[in-house]
Amino acid sequence: LSSPAGHVSIREVGPRDGFQNEPELIDTEEKLALIRMLARTGVPRMEIASFVRGDVIPQLADAAAVLTRAEIPSGVERSVIVPNERGLADALELAGYFDDVNVFLSASESHNERNVNRSIDQSLEALERVLEGVVGAGLRPRASISTAFGCPYEGEVPFRRVAALAQALVGAGAVEIGFGDTTGMANPSQVTTFFTDMRAGLPPEVELTAHFHNTRGQGLANVYAALLAGCRSFDASFGELGGCPVPAGATGNIATEDLVSMVHEMGLETGIDLHALIGASRAVQRTLNRPLTAHTLVAGPIDWHRAAL
Ligand code: ZN
Repeated sequence: LSSPAGHVSIREVGPRDGFQNEPELIDTEEKLALIRMLARTGVPRMEIASFVRGDVIPQLADAAAVLTRAEIPSGVERSVIVPNERGLADALELAGYFDDVNVFLSASESHNERNVNRSIDQSLEALERVLEGVVGAGLRPRASISTAFGCPYEGEVPFRRVAALAQALVGAGAVEIGFGDTTGMANPSQVTTFFTDMRAGLPPEVELTAHFHNTRGQGLANVYAALLAGCRSFDASFGELGGCPVPAGATGNIATEDLVSMVHEMGLETGIDLHALIGASRAVQRTLNRPLTAHTLVAGPIDWHRAAL
């Protein structure tokens, strides 16, 4: 195995995956202030809004206000998540305020049923139409597969099932597939094999993204394992915010500041200013009025010069 080198693309999903799982409603103005800070860290991609029904996820019901008012420098790819055709129709009313549309389903029947109340086949059929609509609207289509590394209800999720879903989504137009370790069940050995085999089974132009949660503290080990398999695209959430509506106890995404610190120390580039990112996480701590669990937020960036004194 050779050392990973080059550029790593990070998508900040805190304003969506992170905020979605906050029980107390965050004021739209506060969201906009946090998004403004995040957008100035050099992060190349942000997932900022969801078109899941507002009565299902009230925290993200202000998607229209967030999208139309977010101050995001041009060049930062703005992404929204849509659950179905109705969600896409709602999103397209705000066309021009985002670049990329993410659709999602789970690789396990029981998680998909609990999360979106459909079978995998029903989801796939609907998402194929949604992706067609995204392509038709001239937007960047991508798809995410939850519970790709294991399901909290079913246990093992066969790789071939995840691969078949990925192929179907690519066939429907997705140019990027995200693989979610939604409840933190993946281990590094599994992850290296997974991304090596998935890469071999999909067209080379399709981007593969790892979406790890740090539920059991294995998130960054899994990042390293994915890097070894050639994966260079990761989702992460500032402050380690995030989770999943089902089941309870499914905690945060990997923390963006921990991910950035690790890959910078490894000599990889992200374009992100770690100090600025920590500033954004400090601000979200103040907004949420509680300490967050990202390690680098607590410890600060490594300062080799000072350590040498
Ligand atoms: Zn997630």
